[in-house]
Amino acid sequence: MALIVQKFGGTSVGSIERIQQIAKKIKTFKEAGHDLVIVVSAMSGETNRLLGLAKQMSVKPNLRELDVMVSTGEQVTIALLAIALNDLGVAARSYTGGQVRIVTDSVHTKARILHIDDQRIRADLKANSVVIVAGFQGIDEEGNITTLGRGGSDTTGVALAAALKADECQIYTDVDGVYTTDPRVEPKARRLDKITFEEMLEMASLGSKVLQIRSVEFAGKYNVPLRVLHSFKEGPGTLITIDEEVSMEQPIISGIAFSRDEAKLTIRGVPDTPGVASNILGPISNANIEVDMIIQNISQDKTTDFTFTVSRSDYQMAFDILKETASKISAKEVAGNLDIAKVSLVGVGMRSHAGVASRMFGVLAKEGINILMISTSEIKISVLIEEKYLELAVRSLHKAFELDVPDKTLG
Ligand code: ADP
Ligand code: ASP
Ligand code: MG
Repeated sequence: MALIVQKFGGTSVGSIERIQQIAKKIKTFKEAGHDLVIVVSAMSGETNRLLGLAKQMSVKPNLRELDVMVSTGEQVTIALLAIALNDLGVAARSYTGGQVRIVTDSVHTKARILHIDDQRIRADLKANSVVIVAGFQGIDEEGNITTLGRGGSDTTGVALAAALKADECQIYTDVDGVYTTDPRVEPKARRLDKITFEEMLEMASLGSKVLQIRSVEFAGKYNVPLRVLHSFKEGPGTLITIDEEVSMEQPIISGIAFSRDEAKLTIRGVPDTPGVASNILGPISNANIEVDMIIQNISQDKTTDFTFTVSRSDYQMAFDILKETASKISAKEVAGNLDIAKVSLVGVGMRSHAGVASRMFGVLAKEGINILMISTSEIKISVLIEEKYLELAVRSLHKAFELDVPDKTLG
């Protein structure tokens, strides 16, 4: 008998029928004698629908109110699932994040979990009840409803598993595991049996939305055994593990991540004096905007061009701040570009293999894809390219690094 936290994503609870199917699945686990804490997302499309309503009301909705509204999606699914389980004769109780006391900071729409009160959950488990918790939401110290950022139900699941010292956290979704790249873009992508926390963290932070990045951070920090599985198909899924034994057959690259959520900003003709980077990026970071890639070029006239990338949702705010900075520091102009994307190779095998970057650049050059920016770390290489080349880049890299599923028809 184990304590298992199971998280079901939006498509898995996307209709009444699916919620009934999930309830049956949970019943089977319960009958096998496990203690179960279930985390659910809103029905697929619901969070976007709610956000759309707020956008109709105001171009810049108040973030506290946005959280009050957008958290309702998950409140519906927890109750529906509890009703479905009760109908199957399974004792189940649903809780919002606030009711559990998943306490977060007060950064609305991207709050971080500070601590979780496990009393209520433990009492219900002791009474042999299935506990259902709304994903994606919490409450701050003042009692305001907060949300954890898009895809945040994964983080609720892993954080609960950590707080309860669960035996495993299972993330049920619409793919049967973590693949070498998003199978929607490359149908030849392969399911991985295992991936290290470190690699998964890079994959998630570089755009693979199969797991929210904070959920992987939590799992790594608290050593929560984490598995990604298909909600409606049997299979071993993918285990996220600390085991980093790189076997001889292990490919150098474990996966390819990509992100369209990129925006590039350039400030040109900045007088080149000490403190330039801090003058430009200080106000951006003060506005809570995360900067990703950065390049600075010095030209002969002793001025510098400074380019950096931010997430698309922060683009407008970053642009306005940069315009203000430009007039303060007598820069020539500010330019921006949203038609870009980032493609990254990830793999712990890179540590022991030289030449991955040049091979990557060679593959892109052969396809006529221009590289706009590059950044590297020990286990990843990222390039920024024009968005129109994204699929081509992912597929040609997938093939060149021998990640394609073997073609069975050729024997
Ligand atoms: P859920 O609603 O269950 O949280 P998500 O849509 O957030 O599901 O995440 C699952 C999706 O992640 C898949 O449908 C797939 O398109 C996408 N995805 C991106 N990268 C990968 C990858 N490397 N492996 C598997 N799925 C991936
Ligand atoms: N419903 C939220 C979202 O769509 C959280 C989640 O699904 O994980 O982002
Ligand atoms: Mg998700």
